[in-house]
Amino acid sequence: MRIGIFGGTFDPIHVGHMIIGEQVMDELGLDQVIFVPGGIPPHKEASSVRASAEDRLALVEAAVAGNERFSVDRVEIDTGRAMHSVETVRILKERSPEHEWFFVTGADEVSNLLTWKEPDRLLEQAVMVAATRPGYDLSKLDHLESGLQNFDRIFPVECSRVDISATGIRRRMLQGKTVRYLVPEAVREMIEEKGLYRGDEKRNEGEPLKEEIS
Ligand code: ATP
Repeated sequence: MRIGIFGGTFDPIHVGHMIIGEQVMDELGLDQVIFVPGGIPPHKEASSVRASAEDRLALVEAAVAGNERFSVDRVEIDTGRAMHSVETVRILKERSPEHEWFFVTGADEVSNLLTWKEPDRLLEQAVMVAATRPGYDLSKLDHLESGLQNFDRIFPVECSRVDISATGIRRRMLQGKTVRYLVPEAVREMIEEKGLYRGDEKRNEGEPLKEEIS
């Protein structure tokens, strides 16, 4: 089988993520996309993550519930610390080495690949799928060629342009504005039920602050 791993903070998951998962799956003929919440990317301050790991996980579970080809994995959350992508992929791949693995991430993050831990090893383990995001200029990936032996394992996929970000959703929530249709309905309901992103929740309750990590 061809399996995609889609890692992110998912704080919260939104329809931009769902569209990437679906379109990458279609474009590359993947059998499954596994969403892996937990990791804090290097450009994000741990303190900027608003919801607890368990709440973010629950939101992703609610989002993927209706799609039999989408699933969620708790590997990063259960590890209890932020993980390098190369480590996440290695663990998932060790469980099922017979599959062909793809690592899905936004093209803007792929452009920083040289700062990640062991990028060439990551590319050996999985084909890197660079999902484009609004306004993205693919030539921003060109500089990676001279720094990577496995540059040809980076595969840009043009996804529908959806100008939605988790930051924007959190901002709207803080302002008391609607996020209906920006997130799957089940996610919106869960955000309401749990009272998340209103600015008065105890941040990362029960979760130690994570170090910045790539
Ligand atoms: P934040 O606004 O908090 O930075 P985000 O919306 O970018 O969050 P992440 O959880 O960091 O969400 O996203 C996971 C991956 O999805 C990242 O690689 C990111 O680049 C990508 N991504 C998120 N939203 C979009 C979008 N609308 N179009 C393309 N890629 C996206």
